[in-house]
Amino acid sequence: MKSSTGILTIDLSAIQSNWRCINNQLTGKTSASAVIKANAYGLGAAYVGPALYRAGCREFFVATLEEALAARQYLKPDAVVYVLGGVRPGAEPLFLENDLSPVLFTLEDTRRWLACTQKLDAPPACAIKINTGMTRLGLDLQEWLSLLASEEELRSLRPTLIMSHLACADEPEHPLNYKQLAHFQALADATRSLLPDTRFSLANSSGVFLGSQWHFDLVRPGAALYGVNPQPLKPSPLKPVVQLALPVLQVRELSENADVGYGATAQAFPLARLAVVAGGYADGLHRTIGRQGFGMLDNHRVPVVGRISMDTTIFDISAADIKGGPQIIQVLNDELTVDSWTALTGALGYDILTSLGYRYRRCYLKDGVSIEQESLYE
Ligand SMILES: *Cc1c(COP(=O)(O)O)cnc(C)c1O
Repeated sequence: MKSSTGILTIDLSAIQSNWRCINNQLTGKTSASAVIKANAYGLGAAYVGPALYRAGCREFFVATLEEALAARQYLKPDAVVYVLGGVRPGAEPLFLENDLSPVLFTLEDTRRWLACTQKLDAPPACAIKINTGMTRLGLDLQEWLSLLASEEELRSLRPTLIMSHLACADEPEHPLNYKQLAHFQALADATRSLLPDTRFSLANSSGVFLGSQWHFDLVRPGAALYGVNPQPLKPSPLKPVVQLALPVLQVRELSENADVGYGATAQAFPLARLAVVAGGYADGLHRTIGRQGFGMLDNHRVPVVGRISMDTTIFDISAADIKGGPQIIQVLNDELTVDSWTALTGALGYDILTSLGYRYRRCYLKDGVSIEQESLYE
């Protein structure tokens, strides 16, 4: 390997298995979509999307028009691509040309979308998002009722999906879960007779594990697919997906006391062995390993010393008796999971994954076999 960057390994088979684990919890006509926004939580949507399609997933959620246009390139035409960020004024033609499905969340949006689709025989699917208690994107319940009152308008809009989003699903006992469920249930009951073919969707990853009442017709897992435990207080039912190995650039054995790193916040003592690895806060390591950071050198736990720099991090490898100098320190693997870093540092799994950045050499595993991403440095 010519490049001096870390190697981020992403196990596509584990992602498929996590999707199946969720899909297997669903009963009747309920199905599982996949949320692949933010480049599949930083892991590479162009690899993750097709892998999920092969696993049987046919409905995908992205955040932006740009992500949706990319998804159209790597997904088969029968995949439905919903855009959580909605359709901005002027973007309608791109949605129509590329069969992209907006998630509409204001009355203005719905009227604008209706105006450009009502004369079409087969417009793209569209979803309507309703705020049931998170107070983020979505029509308020009153606005939804006003839309329900104008039956004609609603029938020509032909929404395929009515959805809402849970604020506290990772805390199973939180009262807001029940409050949001009650609101959503009520609006679904009020809507079904008017729109018998429309489906309903409430649950994200953690929502799936709240129980079947939360499932409705479609669940929308994201984080769980990428190995983040949906129920932090219980053992994870999911497979870890990412491994991160950092190449050692320099090893130094100290012969006298030394200050280590920016700000000289740490000291090391004679006979200590320090390894400087490629990878720093510009690669998201401050999120991943925090202040209490450590890595694994073979089977030895080696602590971070001093501050994490932009491009490098220093580990004290004195405890590891390595002959000939170490090659690599792992900071994410099947034991050192995103969840274990969350427990230790408090950083959210979502934040750890999306902060990993784009300097690593990425390697994708498919049935245990590696497909290397083309590297700029080769
Ligand atoms: C991001 C997102 C999801 C996925 O949430 P996870 O907690 O990652 O499973 C589902 N629905 C909406 C509306 C989202 O924005």
